[in-house]
Amino acid sequence: ALSVGVLALQGGFSEHLHSLRRAAADLNRHVNCIEVRTPEQLSACDALVIPGGESTTLSLVAVQSNLLEPLREFVKVKRKPTWGTCAGLIFLSEEASSTKRGGQELVGGLDVRVHRNHFGRQRESFVTDLELAFLEATPSSSKPPPFPAVFIRAPVVDKLLTDEVEDRSAQNHVATETGLPSPVVKSRAAKNAKVEVLAVLPGRHASNEAAAIGDISAVAPKGDGDIVALRQGNVFGTSFHPELTDDVRIHTWWLQQVLQATSLN
Ligand code: GLN
Repeated sequence: ALSVGVLALQGGFSEHLHSLRRAAADLNRHVNCIEVRTPEQLSACDALVIPGGESTTLSLVAVQSNLLEPLREFVKVKRKPTWGTCAGLIFLSEEASSTKRGGQELVGGLDVRVHRNHFGRQRESFVTDLELAFLEATPSSSKPPPFPAVFIRAPVVDKLLTDEVEDRSAQNHVATETGLPSPVVKSRAAKNAKVEVLAVLPGRHASNEAAAIGDISAVAPKGDGDIVALRQGNVFGTSFHPELTDDVRIHTWWLQQVLQATSLN
């Protein structure tokens, strides 16, 4: 059976475990869901979720737990499916801006720069309905119902560090299985996979900084959105917290991708 780990050093790991178990039940699959605190536990995983929390703390505890290098190997050498939410997305980015106390160790894997605390302080947290074209349409509608996205001191992707980009966020675009590259890079020698932009936040939240960055407007459908969901090869990231809602569609989608990629389906 598939073993999916949730990094359990800090932050919202129990909520992710709960959502993953519900998603596995929805798919009628047996999935071992593992709390990961040691390199040994990580090595038992076929895929990993890195939860939200506080990314500088996460980074410090990972270093203390001797997990930083094993995580880098898991994500960037073994290229196992890995999903980061919020602080987890920060941890999986190659660069993070707005770190008050200077640098923080990052795992990397996503060729992007994130802007931490993009929307401001805790009280600027919000929930908004997002159109997520990559989720499958239900039989009764031509596009998937909106997803209630919870943003808590959330980061956004404010710079792409690669030219290899595909915009898949367009709201009228319904993803098909054949249109999706496998989340695992088949040839490990190949250069990095392209960045797929999976969701942008409509313009009302766009910051001046993001709007000023040419890379973003080149890929955002309306030219003014902040990137809040993306994938690059085996690495998936969301700025928001799907584990804090009852809606497990993203967990189910991701588990399906993992099952396909690990050919355990
Ligand atoms: N602002 C946090 C950070 O920079 C992330 C917040 C979250 O994960 N909800 O790490």
